[in-house]
Amino acid sequence: MRTQVVIIGSGPSGLLLGQLLTRAGIDNIILDRVGKDYILGRVRAGVLEQGTVDLVRRTDADQRLSHEGLVHDGFSIAFGGRDHRIDLAGLTGKHVTIYGQTEITRDLMAIREAAGTKTLYDVKDVALHGFDTNSPFVTYTRSGVAGRIDCDIIAGCDGFHGISRRSIPAGAIRTFERAYPFGWLGLLAEVPPVSEELVYANHERGFALCSMRSMTRSRYYLQVPADERVEGWSDDRFWDELRSRLPRHHAEAVVTGPSFEKSIAPLRSFVAEPLRFGRLILVGDAAHIVPPTGAKGLNLAASDVHYLFEGLRDFFLDKSSAGIDAYSGRALARVWKAVRFSWWMTTLLHRFPDSSDFERRIQDAELDYLTHSQAAATALAENYVGLPY
Ligand SMILES: Cc1cc2nc3c(=O)[nH]c(=O)nc-3n(C[C@H](O)[C@H](O)[C@H](O)COP(=O)(O)OP(=O)(O)OC[C@H]3O[C@@H](n4cnc5c(N)ncnc54)[C@H](O)[C@@H]3O)c2cc1C
Repeated sequence: MRTQVVIIGSGPSGLLLGQLLTRAGIDNIILDRVGKDYILGRVRAGVLEQGTVDLVRRTDADQRLSHEGLVHDGFSIAFGGRDHRIDLAGLTGKHVTIYGQTEITRDLMAIREAAGTKTLYDVKDVALHGFDTNSPFVTYTRSGVAGRIDCDIIAGCDGFHGISRRSIPAGAIRTFERAYPFGWLGLLAEVPPVSEELVYANHERGFALCSMRSMTRSRYYLQVPADERVEGWSDDRFWDELRSRLPRHHAEAVVTGPSFEKSIAPLRSFVAEPLRFGRLILVGDAAHIVPPTGAKGLNLAASDVHYLFEGLRDFFLDKSSAGIDAYSGRALARVWKAVRFSWWMTTLLHRFPDSSDFERRIQDAELDYLTHSQAAATALAENYVGLPY
């Protein structure tokens, strides 16, 4: 088989890039090691920057997003028993949209299928070859049969644990990492949210987040130790702990119900540099990870796709490599700002097991500063709604 771009990974990065390429008349094939149903069973992001919404619009997969996405003009930070609202719209003139990553993935898969663009699910033994030449190719097995796809470019959109980044020789890549001593225990339930907007809570028992996917489906998170096991958390224990970390008016508004998803995600900051190695280009979580506190992972995947699509369009349609040459630098400049913001928000809102009394007082002072300084609140809001591409 031959195509112009082989995309490894059918997550949001791969699907967004694939659909933009298809619409521009550039051939592409997506390979994923798992099946469609497995991908659609993963519950992840839900807060979209305007840039991400705009990019989805450019793929024409935005019908449900436009109807069902919830526009949020602000969110609350709760601490010391009270709430402080960050007025995103008032401070920046912008907002965020609540719409599940799973739904974006579903919409993009549907439009890809309708366009008849090829996706190979359940492929094993994916291996990348010759990306330091002008004739790269990818090999794999599927249902026990070996396959090979020759191409011009390989886009590594295969997430943090994928094969693309690991295929790069160690001497050609530099990585930067911080692991946090806690994770997020998430619960999804068919219950109305405590509030119309998200609530981020800093409490002495640990961080909590009240989020949602719709006005009838809530997503809640609790900070738990890094080695915590989800089996130890019954729904009742989760709801009790959530209430104990919220100011009373929110705790009383919690509507409980049976969970239909519960999982623990570790928190990590990670960046690999550069993002391009000859004809192999890394995109999204394959290249960088942020803790979910600032809601930036999916949004960074989208901005990477934006820069890369522009570069590939120039490469294939105008025969210019200037765009793909500039891709790594352009994308990383935005990535590092989001890495900084996500680290800062994580540090501000979580309880670190080894933090000293001094560090606690600094955290209190910073929260107090945010609630009294429009400049501080504006800096938070500007980053939360998303820095410009
Ligand atoms: C609990 C949680 C909450 C989050 N909340 C937010 C949020 O509110 N806002 C936000 O912006 N982000 C959030 N994120 C982050 C966001 O989910 C990720 O940044 C996003 O999924 C990245 O998309 P991706 O396509 O780059 O990678 P992925 O979604 O990881 O997709 C990679 C794909 O590659 C496939 N793959 C892997 N290895 C191979 C291989 N060897 N061969 C072929 N295919 C392979 C995988 O099966 C997968 O389908 C959250 C993440 C978590 C875990």
